[in-house]
Amino acid sequence: VAIARIAVPVAANRLFDYWLPAGLQVESGSVVRVAFGRRRVHGVVTEIVRSSELSPDRILPVQEVVEALPVLPGDLRALAQFVAAYYQQPIGQCFAQLLPPLGAKRGRSEGRRADVVAVEAVKGLEVIELNTDQRRALDAALPRPPSFAVSLLQGVTGSGKTEVYLAAAARVIREDRQALFLVPEIHLTPQLEQRIAAALPGVRVVTLHSALGAGKRLGHWLAAARGEAQLVVGTRLAVFAPLPRLGLIAVDEEHDTSFRQQDGVRYNARDVAIYRARLRDVPVLLGSATPSLESYAQAQRGRYRWLRLSQRAKARAALPSVQLVPNRDPGSLEGLGSSLRAAIAERLARREQSLLFVNRRGFAPSLLCVACGWKAMCPRCAARLVVHREAAALRCHHCGHNERIPAGCPDCGNRDLFPLGFGTQRLERALGQLFPGARVMRVDRDSTRRRGAFAAMFRAITSGDVDILVGTQMLAKGHDFARLTLVGILGCDNALYSADFRATERLFALLEQVAGRAGRGALPGEVLVQTDFPEHPLFAALVDHDYDRFAEALLAERRSLGLPPFGHLALLAAEATSRAAVNSFLERAAARGNALATAHGKHCEVFPPVAAALARRAGMERGQVLVQASERRALQNFLARWREDLERLGPRTVRWSLEVDPPAVG
Ligand SMILES: [Zn+2]
Ligand SMILES: [Zn+2]
Repeated sequence: VAIARIAVPVAANRLFDYWLPAGLQVESGSVVRVAFGRRRVHGVVTEIVRSSELSPDRILPVQEVVEALPVLPGDLRALAQFVAAYYQQPIGQCFAQLLPPLGAKRGRSEGRRADVVAVEAVKGLEVIELNTDQRRALDAALPRPPSFAVSLLQGVTGSGKTEVYLAAAARVIREDRQALFLVPEIHLTPQLEQRIAAALPGVRVVTLHSALGAGKRLGHWLAAARGEAQLVVGTRLAVFAPLPRLGLIAVDEEHDTSFRQQDGVRYNARDVAIYRARLRDVPVLLGSATPSLESYAQAQRGRYRWLRLSQRAKARAALPSVQLVPNRDPGSLEGLGSSLRAAIAERLARREQSLLFVNRRGFAPSLLCVACGWKAMCPRCAARLVVHREAAALRCHHCGHNERIPAGCPDCGNRDLFPLGFGTQRLERALGQLFPGARVMRVDRDSTRRRGAFAAMFRAITSGDVDILVGTQMLAKGHDFARLTLVGILGCDNALYSADFRATERLFALLEQVAGRAGRGALPGEVLVQTDFPEHPLFAALVDHDYDRFAEALLAERRSLGLPPFGHLALLAAEATSRAAVNSFLERAAARGNALATAHGKHCEVFPPVAAALARRAGMERGQVLVQASERRALQNFLARWREDLERLGPRTVRWSLEVDPPAVG
């Protein structure tokens, strides 16, 4: 009897054997349904073998083949294997990343081809107008004949990177191949879809992201698998889309941490995209105004083609001027200094738009009793509760805990409770009071929760119905508002002195992106940053829009400390309801790791266990052990062995996971 070796979506890091009933058409890559414990799950057949180590009576049959899905192609299976091996993730869960949603009821549009734009001859794909820089980048990014090459497109905000991606996509589509375009945010996709429709008329485009309904997502996935979709635009999960005629992968804002999946299977979609491009021997184009230091170093070493766009693409559009202003001055009101207020007033008089950026939603980040020093804390997390004034609630942004704002201090009874610090809601209210008559709009996760809310806000902004925008990083990315000429940045000082070594790299990227919203049309832009640390090197580089200088300085620091991209990191994260359980597991894990590292030539250093930056979340105590290695291969070998030990050591009460190339370690 034939045995199918199947990747089943469970935490155990192994494959499971099932026997194949006669008449079932199954091959490597078939998606099947099987019983697992009391559940029925979808699995992927990885190979068919003649015999199993298990006794025949312990092997269950494959129940059925999922007819709705095609056999998964070899490159996707190889991609799942790569994610499992490189990121040390359970093999079955990695294969599960390849599948579209299957559990849902049959959606109305499932399998229908109507979601794919009507078939038209691909014509007019030369409409995309490029300047000399863009054309040079395009030619360099697409090798002749087509083959694997990684290009880093480093272009200042507004330099027209998207036009280069789309022109590159147009070229491969003309050659009857498919293009994959990865973007960081689902909020970007509606605007992006419009731009694509305008730039690539007649091209059949589908989107893939987690906010799509299950039926629709399956339909789009099938359109990609059948080769009907010529361009697939999606978030990180789209890196696993089946594309039989793949010709190009482009990754926009390649530095963005949203390419990193941080729950379940941990991977970085940018790095998976590069691996996939290599497997398929196609070019991959990474774009950013502020490339990750990993990509930057690869370009410096000559391993990536380094393509630069140093000018804004639109005629007359220059990079905005950046000024540093004090957080507090004698004229400060509600957190807004006199320079920023004067700049806003000028914009109102000229009927231009202002954007105030504060990367904190809610009214105030904490509630304080002035009499005794009590602070409102989450009962389930080691974190302060955020004041949400509209809802008269205190909310935890880590676990969702929600309670009413108390009438008085629970410790001393004092009724004078003080909201400390600024969030978007407080700024919105302050602006309403300071500029009566101005139309203020707040854009954050709370104000855009309702379906379609973000699109409606976007229309209001572009049609000029808004004078002042207040928002979080949701507003930082990709948007192009012609009359927006002022950007004010508040509350960014915390990240300057964070324990996480990547914090300043991320902060620079975010600030440059926010600053880049100003002056994208014909009107010049101005950026005011409120800070207590104007002498910090990050700000000097920001004022000059000189990412290279900042990157060089960070790289020198990283090199001296053996940190990425010069060294390699992995993190063992653990959590349990008891602190003692976490500590004892991590101590044994670190001891075992040290013994392994010593036995194998000390290429890896295992640090002692520490509490996580957020030491308790949703009732779980959290800790971690960091591993640093000078060589990638040494780290991979170490992790493979260590993980086997961890699987034996780990008691059932402790949940643990390995993170390779962790995005944050503080
Ligand atoms: Zn008190
Ligand atoms: Zn909480």
